[in-house]
Amino acid sequence: MVEYQAPLAQMRFTLEHLADLREVAALPAFEAATPDVVEAVLEEAAKFAREVLSPINTLGDREGVRVENDAVVVPEAFTRAYAQFQQGGWAGIAGNPEFGGQGLPKTVAAACEEMWSSANMAFALCPELSQGALLAVERHGSDALRAAYLEPMIAGRWTASMCLTEPQAGSELAALTTRAVPQGDHYLITGRKIFITWGDHPMAENIAHLVLARTSDAPAGSRGLSLFLVPKYRLRKDGSPGEGNDVRPVSVEHKLGIHASPTCVMAFGDKGGAEGYLIGRENDGLAAMFTMMNYMRLGVGLQVVGVSERSCQQSAAYARERIQGGAPGQKGRVPIIRHPDVRRMLLTMRALTQAARSLCYYTASCLDRAAHGADAAGVESWQARADLLTPIAKAWCTEMAQEVTSIGIQVHGGMGYVEETGVAQLFRDTRIASIYEGTNGIQAIDLVGRKLLRDGGAAVSAMVSEMRSVDPMLANAGDEVAGLRQALSRALDEVVQCSTHLLTGGKRDPDLPNAGAMHYLMLLGTVIGGWQLARGALAALAAPSGSDAGFMRVQIVLARFYAEQILPRALAHGAAVRAGSATVMALAAEQF
Ligand SMILES: Cc1cc2nc3c(=O)[nH]c(=O)nc-3n(C[C@H](O)[C@H](O)[C@H](O)COP(=O)(O)OP(=O)(O)OC[C@H]3O[C@@H](n4cnc5c(N)ncnc54)[C@H](O)[C@@H]3O)c2cc1C
Repeated sequence: MVEYQAPLAQMRFTLEHLADLREVAALPAFEAATPDVVEAVLEEAAKFAREVLSPINTLGDREGVRVENDAVVVPEAFTRAYAQFQQGGWAGIAGNPEFGGQGLPKTVAAACEEMWSSANMAFALCPELSQGALLAVERHGSDALRAAYLEPMIAGRWTASMCLTEPQAGSELAALTTRAVPQGDHYLITGRKIFITWGDHPMAENIAHLVLARTSDAPAGSRGLSLFLVPKYRLRKDGSPGEGNDVRPVSVEHKLGIHASPTCVMAFGDKGGAEGYLIGRENDGLAAMFTMMNYMRLGVGLQVVGVSERSCQQSAAYARERIQGGAPGQKGRVPIIRHPDVRRMLLTMRALTQAARSLCYYTASCLDRAAHGADAAGVESWQARADLLTPIAKAWCTEMAQEVTSIGIQVHGGMGYVEETGVAQLFRDTRIASIYEGTNGIQAIDLVGRKLLRDGGAAVSAMVSEMRSVDPMLANAGDEVAGLRQALSRALDEVVQCSTHLLTGGKRDPDLPNAGAMHYLMLLGTVIGGWQLARGALAALAAPSGSDAGFMRVQIVLARFYAEQILPRALAHGAAVRAGSATVMALAAEQF
């Protein structure tokens, strides 16, 4: 198995040219993000990924987790790795300095999350959940909650979980039945949650469960949901974890991938009620939870960029070594990387992974600019852009990762299908990503319903204008990118036509928006990926003398390959959007 090496040059290039890191770092809130600091953080995060997390990835897959005496047991190596993670201050790199964080942009943290997920997705999920919870507590929690929880969570001493799902309430959160009864300064929470990632473990001193529940007088549906913080251990007067709360893991799931990440059934209130503290206002819980969920949605995109990168590395290394067959003009047998079809596979993997990376980093930079921009109008438009891109970063990247990690197996032939090369684990691990944090189908409905139809297409139009702005630069950049320019321009026309079709056709055909939603999302993701790679090609063509010419050549070839072999998919997605809903809805349920 090939050891993971963080692609630091590629990540730096993406941060600088495709996520506008310099612009982000110039915001007053990010004065800590000097080039030296950013470089040191990236180098050290890469080292942590390579030396601590990567060596225990296969072990975690084989050993898995279990419940013993009302507690989850994880591989000991994971507990040791988490201690190093915590001591290294990694939980706080993007945390609020007021509570001990380092105050770096999310854009930089995104690159770190990618590396840790490459090295060990099951592990990386744990600190990522804490980051999402931190944000929800910081934005919506009372002063008392912020004072009690933010510092230990930013220090990584405490982690968090996200407790939404119940057996009857998966995509439909409105069906949740977990109860909350007021009791003095807190509430008593009773109910069962399923599928709770890192719902219990021994790696941290405490766990803050963010639990959606409803009070007895709450209105029905999602407008009756409130969010509560339920600590695993109740806090003593001095703020340290004390007695156990009335919450326990009942069991863990046996599942396809991420074996070392406990997926728990959690029981709240078996002994009368778990102490929970309201986050935000009663019945406004979904808004607070969405702060965490949106953060996690981008996080899921970054997870799979990481795993896809690892699949690319392993597949290229294998293809350079594996000897099979001959090739025109060459004597004897050749490494399979000589074969055009293997090159097609490797380039598809690389181009998709780089497109997804640049989409995720760019989304992170939009979030940074929305959170810390100077003028109100700018902040609003960056937030609209981040809102538009979040479901695409989640769903397009996770669809892409299934393709990439599946091709990774194909490059290895039979050796990919057996476990010892490690690429099968990458395929298994990424499969969950299109399901959790809201299935990709739900992301697509969110994109069309909330991000396209609700503002009459304004955010999409602004994004299209931004993407079209590279056209004159491509025109001036010469023959090498002429095909890319043409393919991008046609694909952008398709976005405009499909957006208009969805905006105008819904009244006539109420099933149209949701019938076309997934193809519309794939269309947008494919085009945004092409735009980002085109920007990369332009940056590479304009690179000053003294730059690494080989590296710049790769950027140009990736963009050209994407234009030739991946961007045409945009037109197929567009045709499916425009086909409407009649055929999709034509059969009765029993005819399937
Ligand atoms: C390993 C793992 C980890 C998880 N971690 C967590 C966690 O930490 N916290 C947590 O709360 N949950 C977690 N989940 C739960 C996860 O978020 C849900 O499984 C997911 O939201 C889907 O819900 P469901 O499984 O009930 O599927 P369903 O909602 O039953 O969906 C089944 C299918 O129907 C589609 N569908 C459903 N409703 C609609 C609709 N209105 N329109 C169109 N299509 C629809 C879906 O897209 C899907 O394809 C985890 C799940 C797994 C497997």
